[in-house]
Amino acid sequence: MLPLSIQYSLASKCMNGEYMARPRGNYKERFLNRIVKMDSGCHEWQGQVKRDGYGRFCYQAKTIPAHRAAFLIFKGEIPEGLFVLHTCDNRICVNPAHLYLGTSQDNAQDMVKRGRNWGRRKPTNEQVEWILIRHRSGDTQTQIAIDTGLHQTTVSRIVHGKNAYARKLMN
Ligand SMILES: [Zn+2]
Repeated sequence: MLPLSIQYSLASKCMNGEYMARPRGNYKERFLNRIVKMDSGCHEWQGQVKRDGYGRFCYQAKTIPAHRAAFLIFKGEIPEGLFVLHTCDNRICVNPAHLYLGTSQDNAQDMVKRGRNWGRRKPTNEQVEWILIRHRSGDTQTQIAIDTGLHQTTVSRIVHGKNAYARKLMN
C-alpha cells in the first residue's frame, strides 16, 4: 500500500471533485453510504444523478453510471458490449439483485417489461434465453422466480439445462 500522500498525487479527479486513489475494497463502503433501501426492494441512489435519470459514481477515477458501478462492485466484470439493465425499471436503483447483463438496451428493457408476471405458463424461447442471461449475471433462481412470477422449479429446470431450449443454448 502506498503512503496516502503518494496515492493522492497519483489520483485523477472525478467530475464531482472526489479523489479516487483508494483501495478497491473501499468502494463498497463508499457506495453503500449513498443508498436508501425502499420498501419496493429498490436501493435508490442518493448521490449525483444526471439528466438521463441514472446516478453517477466515481469508480477508478472515472465517473460512471451508478448502476454500472453497483454491478462492478458487487457482481463482477461487465463484458464488452453488454449493458447493465434493471428488472425494476427504476433508473436510480442500484440494488445488485435488480441488475443483470443484456446484449441490447432496448430489446432487453422491453423483455423486462414483458418478463413481469409471466405466470405459470410454459416459458417461451426468448424468456428461457433471458433467464439464462440473468442467471449468468449472478442472479439467484429465487430472485428470477420472484421477478418473472414463474415457479422456482421452472427456473431451476432452465438453468440446469433440463428445458429443451435451454439445453440447446448451452451446447
Ligand atoms: Zn430496483
